[in-house]
Amino acid sequence: MSINKRISRILISIMILSVMAGCGNNVQSDEAEAKKEPTTTGIAHQAHWSYEGETSPEHWAELDKLFTTCSTGTAQSPINILHEKVKDDESLSPIKVEYTPSQVAIINNGHTIQVNLKNQDNPIIIEGKTYTLQQFHFHLPSEHEVDSKHADMELHFVHQSEEGTLAVLSVLITKGTENAELNKLWSVLPAEESKQETPIESAFDLNKLLPADLHSFRYQGSLTTPPCSEGVQWIVLENPVQWSEDQIGKFEAIFPHDNRPVQTLGDREVDSDN
Ligand SMILES: [Zn+2]
Repeated sequence: MSINKRISRILISIMILSVMAGCGNNVQSDEAEAKKEPTTTGIAHQAHWSYEGETSPEHWAELDKLFTTCSTGTAQSPINILHEKVKDDESLSPIKVEYTPSQVAIINNGHTIQVNLKNQDNPIIIEGKTYTLQQFHFHLPSEHEVDSKHADMELHFVHQSEEGTLAVLSVLITKGTENAELNKLWSVLPAEESKQETPIESAFDLNKLLPADLHSFRYQGSLTTPPCSEGVQWIVLENPVQWSEDQIGKFEAIFPHDNRPVQTLGDREVDSDN
């Protein structure tokens, strides 16, 4: 790959991560500006979008030319995962997650609560390819449906490979027992949108947000927020985790619903590992 091509791919990824961080967040786009890359101009002026009314998901493509894929895309996320249509793929082994306790910071970006990683030490390995965790965030109710049913919430761990491709590890959340580790984040849950992230003082153990069993559904999809870019590897864990009613309620009080409706599967296939 030429240096120009490589720089351009990296900048596209920066744009995606920045966009996922919210409409008004231009911290990472400033970084792109510093490299004088014309394709990244306009990020900070991206149209406002939401989950309600005139800027809700059915209108995303009309809000900004950059969002066209939200309506014209053919491999969009989230989807309804139907067990009867999932293909058991003997060749797929469970993903490897090598998360370690990490320094993180939390922010309300106006679309969700997002937790940013302060290091690049949290890889996952999918069929031999390494992706590094950049941030994670939450949706209520879940974006993916399983057999046409939503879970109470969904957590998205967003990873990037060295080449700039994205892989999202999704964990479904159901009402049940309290997750003690989550309280490190929820004790400083930012109720108001801000450009200022709040650092979490103690190291956060990411593994405690995962189920013990990492068997998963896999498919090729997109970002579930504008610009709905495709080429995203999705790994939806089959087993949910539990949070208490109070923990889910605290998120719901800030974001009563922040899920994009399910999209057409089309000719895509959903695989499961062995
Ligand atoms: Zn998400």
